[in-house]
Formats: sequence, structure tokens, C-alpha cells
Amino acid sequence: MSDRNATSPRLRGVLEGIPSYKPGRPAAAGGPVSYKLSSNENPYPPLPGVLESVTAAAGSFNRYPDLACTALCEELAERFDVPVSHLATGTGSVGLAQQLVQATAGPGDEVLYAWRSFEAYPIITQISGATSVPIPLTGAGAGHLPAGGGGTEAHDLDAMADAITDRTRLVFVCTPNNPTGPAIPGADLRRFLDRVPGDVLVVLDEAYREFVRDERVVDGLDFYRDRPNVCVLRTFSKAYGLAGLRVGFAVAHEPVAAALRKTAVPFGVSQLAQEAAIASLRSEDALLERVEALVKERTRVGDELRAQGWTVPDSQANFVWLRLGARTADFARKAEAAGVMVRPFDGEGVRVSIGETAANDLFLQVAASFRKEL
Ligand SMILES: *Cc1c(COP(=O)(O)O)cnc(C)c1O
Repeated sequence: MSDRNATSPRLRGVLEGIPSYKPGRPAAAGGPVSYKLSSNENPYPPLPGVLESVTAAAGSFNRYPDLACTALCEELAERFDVPVSHLATGTGSVGLAQQLVQATAGPGDEVLYAWRSFEAYPIITQISGATSVPIPLTGAGAGHLPAGGGGTEAHDLDAMADAITDRTRLVFVCTPNNPTGPAIPGADLRRFLDRVPGDVLVVLDEAYREFVRDERVVDGLDFYRDRPNVCVLRTFSKAYGLAGLRVGFAVAHEPVAAALRKTAVPFGVSQLAQEAAIASLRSEDALLERVEALVKERTRVGDELRAQGWTVPDSQANFVWLRLGARTADFARKAEAAGVMVRPFDGEGVRVSIGETAANDLFLQVAASFRKEL
């Protein structure tokens, strides 16, 4: 019933209690040195040719962008050997993730995901009115420092498959998992996918795919090819270093790709983002070189942390995870005081992006002195 005397518009009840997305805090201004290792961004400047193509496109931003991202989709189709009709672009892959939930799930439906995982999943699920079904990671301590061996902090795929019901509409599988780092071996993922009913959409969120070096891991695109219920999400934000331009893409069979085009905000992906993505795809060699350097740093940081006595899950992404339990906020404060911003998840742990060598060194120093106080 309408209420003429109401003092504010009526909002959907599902908005209440939606956790707000917490961006990684920026590096402190004015301090001696400060590094931002809180958002998994790429520390490198744009790839060769990218700045030039964006600058050229900037002269035309009085015009709307190409709605269909035609040139970008053609480039992607060739690069990943998929039909153009199986591609959809979006405002980052988080935009596509939200569209997929909108396209599949509403009130009464369930969206399944591992937890802790990407913090956008509960938010976009709740906005659509669907119910979140979070499944704890393997061996994850429930908010305390794990005793001894800690845990692998990976998806518990058997528990996830067991949790599928008639109401399940979508399953997010984040591999490598943000914020803990492990990627899912291909054999495990195949066994899981074989247990998922054909009418449930599985979204393989591969935002960090380029950083994976574990040879047991299989490219999500291999699973999509013969499975119409699998959608792969990729982004230009992490390895490609275009986080600020907002562009990602999905690969899925036609009904899902078409649903993504229907649920897209018109003209969401700017022409600057489209041109930058095309130029980035054409800079493959420089990209691989940088990714390799970050992977080397990841290995160095992980090894050094373990040598300091920390339990660190095997990260296949551009960050590492320290489970700190109740000491999380204290660690984040000390890191900030030392000039490194990390991403704390209160009561659980910190995620620390792999950045420039000096930044990683500073983080390792903080971790070493914190360890001595334990
Ligand atoms: C960063 C990230 C994304 C997407 O980022 P966009 O900038 O929106 O493309 C998606 N999934 C995970 C797990 C991420 O960490």
C-alpha cells in the first residue's frame, strides 16, 4: 500500500544488511614511502602501446562507445579460439558476475560459493534477492590461528556438490581463490562439474588465471567447450593492469552469453577501455614477461614467509594470505606504520598483493618482526 506521508522512498528490503564492498586502502600520502598491496593491482605501468591507444581514443569521448565491443570481441575470439557469439564483455568481471546472478537467481533461489572467497559474491547475491550458501574452505581456521599445519584454504568441492539443491541456480568457483590463493586441480574440478546438474550455471571466476603455474590446473576454457552450463570469467584488471578502466569478459555458450548481453548496462564498457584491452592483447610478450616477474616474486615471498615460520597456502595468484585470526587488525596497523597497505579481513587474516620488489621486501620485514613477537 502506498503511504503519501512517507518521508523517504520505499527501498527493497534485501538492501538491508548488505555488506559493503571494502576497497583496499590507498598508499598513505606524505609519509616516507608507502606501497599499496591491498587491491591485487599490477604494479607496472601500462603495457607498450596501451597508453597511446587510450590517449588517441580520449579525443572522441563525446561519443558513446561501441555498444557491442565489436573489435574487442573479434580480438578475443581469435586469441582464445571461441566464437564471437560465446563472448560477452562487461565493466570488469565483477560486473559480469552480477549480471550472471541477475540472469539466473531471484528470491527463493540459492547461489553457492566457497567462503572465504571473493567478497563481491555475497553482495551481488543479496542484491538479486537470492540466498547465499557459503561453504567453508578446507582446513580454514574459524577465525583463529590454526594450530600446527594450518590448512590448505582451498575449495571443498565435495561439500559444495553435496550442498546443491533444487533451489541452486548458480555456483561460483573462484580459481585461484581470492583471498587465500590456491587454484583447483583440473581432475578435481572435472569431478565436481560432473556432479553439477545441467541446469545449474557454474561460473569459473579466473581473474588470476595468468599467474597460475601449478601444472595440475586446467584452463577453465577447456571445461566450457563441452559444457553448456559453464561460464568462464576473465578480467583485464589484474595481469593486464587495466583495473581503473573496468573491462572484463565472459566465455559461455549462446544462451548464457545472450543473457549477459541482455542484462548489461548499455554502453558500460568505455571506448578507452575497449581500445586499451585490444592493445593489451597485442602486447602478449611484454605481458608474459611481467607476469613471470610477479610469479617469481610470489615464490620468493612465499618461501621467505615459510622460512620465517608462517603457514602460507599455496598461492597461484598475485597475492599471499596470512591467517592471523584475532591478530589481523594489529598486523594491518603495523604494516601501515611501516609503509605497506595490506587488505585485512577482520578476525580472519590479511591478503597481501605481490608488488614491486621494494614493497615486497618491506612487507617481509613487517612479517618477520611480527613473527618474533608471537
Ligand atoms: C579482482 C577480481 C575480479 C574482477 O575484477 P574486475 O576489476 O571487476 O574485473 C573478479 N573476481 C575476483 C576473484 C577478483 O579478485
